[in-house]
Amino acid sequence: MYSYEQLAAWRERCQSSFFLLDTNRLRDNYERFSRAFSSRYEQVSVGYSYKTNYLPYACQCLHRLGALAEVVSRLEYDLALKLGVEPTAIIFNGPLKTAEDIWLALELGSLVNLDSFSEIAPVLTYARQHPEQTVRVGLRVNFDLTRGGVSPLQNGYGVSRFGFCVENGRFAQALTLLAAVPNVRVAGLHGHFSTNRSVGVYRQIARELCRLGKAHLGEQLEYIDIGGGFYGELPATFGMVGVPSFDDYALAITAVLKDELAETTRLPQLILEPGISLVADAVEFVCQVVDVKENRGERFVLVDGSVHNIKPTMHAYQLPVSVVTQSSEAREGTYHVVGYTCMEKDYLLQGFRGKVPEPGDFLVFGHAGAYTLVFNPPFIRERPPVLAKAGRDVVVARRKETLAEFFPESLYEFQFQAGKQEDTRR
Ligand SMILES: *Cc1c(COP(=O)(O)O)cnc(C)c1O
Repeated sequence: MYSYEQLAAWRERCQSSFFLLDTNRLRDNYERFSRAFSSRYEQVSVGYSYKTNYLPYACQCLHRLGALAEVVSRLEYDLALKLGVEPTAIIFNGPLKTAEDIWLALELGSLVNLDSFSEIAPVLTYARQHPEQTVRVGLRVNFDLTRGGVSPLQNGYGVSRFGFCVENGRFAQALTLLAAVPNVRVAGLHGHFSTNRSVGVYRQIARELCRLGKAHLGEQLEYIDIGGGFYGELPATFGMVGVPSFDDYALAITAVLKDELAETTRLPQLILEPGISLVADAVEFVCQVVDVKENRGERFVLVDGSVHNIKPTMHAYQLPVSVVTQSSEAREGTYHVVGYTCMEKDYLLQGFRGKVPEPGDFLVFGHAGAYTLVFNPPFIRERPPVLAKAGRDVVVARRKETLAEFFPESLYEFQFQAGKQEDTRR
């Protein structure tokens, strides 16, 4: 828990509400995750899912510990290169890679997991043009995880949109197409699914990937990529019990691999792509109370933050929050915390019972690191700056944007071109 003076000093540093990245927490999460798997299996690689939070400072913190970069767009790929990540330490996933993206990644030796048929032709073209190179690619596979009539996919989906479907033969067809050029080698299988995150589902995914690998790739199988989606530590406010630990996941997945692949001469590399489990609880959001007002019996606490900052996905869980007041005798009460946007639904907290803050007080929201900074439309105001702390030291990892950075002259046309926009409505 922070003192009022500490928060005020940090706010002074960046002149805004701000995100606070705890690099010690991030390191700790990575190391616990990594150790859970590498203590049970020989060849483990952990690729950090950039899209979950690609704040360069956070990515660098993880790369220093040995994390690979898992990227899902050319933008993220180029960011990884800019951050000095070795191309061979980049895993290029995602549903939309252009031919140019694929050619560059293959040329630089990155690991590319193909997602659909449109990505096969560029691989074949590249391989024909580079007959001396063994062109290694992976395939993202799609199979049915439904058990007992229940699909474990998020949002109630029965069928995932990603990857090559095993059941209808499209996966086998992709392998056949890729086999047409002799220097193409399908070296691995990728099975990232957005599910209920249960250990049982990971066991299912791991088993299916192993069986497909044995049946279709045999000794060519170099890696099995389980993807991300693991639970990290959850706050009590989420009200969930029996959440699996990193050890629970690692034990289940590595046991399946050792069991299924016991006969192979060489166990494949095991790749994991955690995002949310590493960053969610490593970032807090600190905003300040601007006003407290009552409208027909309801109390509204206005802050210089927004639900878009802490829950852009508008999920239903309540984030852990603490109120840091200047006054010693704060009263208890029920109130809503509302944001700076002009949206009626901009609630950071609804019907919250606790210490009633006063203008100038701080609210610190925890668990604000995943799918927030990256998913935050700079709507109405600039994106909040980010401070990174380790112990008492802070670094400004992202400054407050100026008008010129928000609306760069290099990006926008500021003058209406009357001559080129003649009124042609008549
Ligand atoms: C989003 C994503 C991840 C990370 O998922 P989390 O739920 O943040 O752990 C990993 N791999 C792929 C391919 C993804 O799209």
